Amino acid sequence: MKKYILLILCILLSIQTKTLEIFKNIPLAEKNWFKTGGSAKFYCEPQTTTDIKLALNFANKNNLEVFILGQGAHVLISDDGFDGIVITPKMKRISHIFYESYVLVNAQAGATIFELIEYCMKNSIIGLEEFAYIPASVGGALCNNIKYFSKNIGDYVACSKILEKSTNKIINVEQKWFNFGYNTSKLKNENHILLDTTFKLKPGTKLECAYAKGRHDEIIRQRKSRYPTKRTCGFFFRNFTKKEVELTNNKTTNVIYYLSKLCIAGNLNICGAHVSHKHPNMLATKIGTNTNNIIDLAIEIQKMCYKKFGLIPQPECKLVGFKKYPLIK
Ligand SMILES: Cc1cc2nc3c(=O)[nH]c(=O)nc-3n(C[C@H](O)[C@H](O)[C@H](O)COP(=O)(O)OP(=O)(O)OC[C@H]3O[C@@H](n4cnc5c(N)ncnc54)[C@H](O)[C@@H]3O)c2cc1C
Repeated sequence: MKKYILLILCILLSIQTKTLEIFKNIPLAEKNWFKTGGSAKFYCEPQTTTDIKLALNFANKNNLEVFILGQGAHVLISDDGFDGIVITPKMKRISHIFYESYVLVNAQAGATIFELIEYCMKNSIIGLEEFAYIPASVGGALCNNIKYFSKNIGDYVACSKILEKSTNKIINVEQKWFNFGYNTSKLKNENHILLDTTFKLKPGTKLECAYAKGRHDEIIRQRKSRYPTKRTCGFFFRNFTKKEVELTNNKTTNVIYYLSKLCIAGNLNICGAHVSHKHPNMLATKIGTNTNNIIDLAIEIQKMCYKKFGLIPQPECKLVGFKKYPLIK
């Protein structure tokens, strides 16, 4: 009897994967944090690795560009949309194994950092609470190596499973493969899709877990007072490189230093695209704002920064669907 039930479940599963739904002309504004941008020519939400492979096969067959979208918290999508297929991985399983002095937590790419931290706290696992309240999928978090002050998520990665886009091959990689850096990792090359990752974390004592919970709550409190929490992509501009700073006889690579000197926080607004009054590096939108308005605002800031410091800040967030680079190089 058990055998038959298992067989039926397997058949049902395979039916589900064979019928991955690929939608046409899906608006992306509701799928990113700026709430702007046009539509994806094709869009799908794979629930399994097989689904992702099906989506890639579809892209290959139809000669389509592919974009992997996570929570859409660090992207700026063109008002013309994306003329290819947008794939949002929705695999969300999280599991763990305790060893003597550490614990391995495996999370699939579509799980959110919020879900992952909740899971860890429920199971007395500490470390990731540093990233509380950062909107991200596990895939997006590793791609951008999310950070909060001195902590980078890449430091907690042990190994991962990735899918090579060109061959549809699944590869197991260790932490060093990612080449994690400031807001970056090898995933940024867009040649691979993260399927799941294993974090090496600490099992917490009762006291350590209570401390971690307190830190988690305090980080959320601080973040709410320091940053806007809606209709933004987090920090818009990236830090400068050492070379850029030296060439212009400036001192620090920290873009926030320069933006603060421009006194733009709360003072620049183009059709609802504005610089948050809470932070000079956080651009935000109002209902009715479009992506071109954000681009105009960003260009205005680039011009101001160039005039005062000879430096042109460049975006940290990913620009999606633009036929040509829309900002000043
Ligand atoms: C309110 C707010 C606060 C923020 N605060 C912080 C902060 O404190 N620290 C910080 O570092 N960032 C912060 N960010 C930025 C953002 O949270 C991170 O960059 C995050 O990693 C985005 O994850 P995502 O899932 O939304 O990815 P998306 O924005 O959807 O995509 C980002 C990149 O990841 C790639 N990607 C997504 N999934 C996969 C996958 N499975 N495989 C391969 N590539 C993939 C995409 O192709 C894209 O290039 C903030 C953003 C907001 C809106």
